[in-house]
Amino acid sequence: MPTGTEKKSLGIMAIAGLAPYQEKPGEEYMGPAQLEHFKKILGAWRSQLRQEVDKTMNHMQDEAANFPDPVDRAAQEEEFSLELRARDRERKLIKKIEKTLQLIEDDDFGFCKECGIEIGIRRLEARPTADLCIDCKTLAEIKEKQLAG
Ligand SMILES: [Zn+2]
Repeated sequence: MPTGTEKKSLGIMAIAGLAPYQEKPGEEYMGPAQLEHFKKILGAWRSQLRQEVDKTMNHMQDEAANFPDPVDRAAQEEEFSLELRARDRERKLIKKIEKTLQLIEDDDFGFCKECGIEIGIRRLEARPTADLCIDCKTLAEIKEKQLAG
């Protein structure tokens, strides 16, 4: 069963068809070249998610009329509701990607929103929508567990 975390199917870098960013010596963090790199990653990721959403919608429209039997229909509705929930997660993710693209536009991308330090290129390549550094993220997860516990 899916957990609360975003599912890791294909790596984002593989989807985007990009190699890990090679920094030049002394290169400024989140200079134009790096921002461009992440813009490409986020753009590719978003189109892949959009395709997923469209595919499911088409699939459901094709199948919707095919089951006159109520039992089959019930099973189908169950399947649809699972798919819709997955699509709902993808739509939320698309929104998050768009917010992150906006951060790039505003030249505000790549820094922790809690403490302001650099999130880091490698971490962002693994999770381009990350808006916390690893320390703040760990802290947030501990707090979350305590609240849930
Ligand atoms: Zn931080």
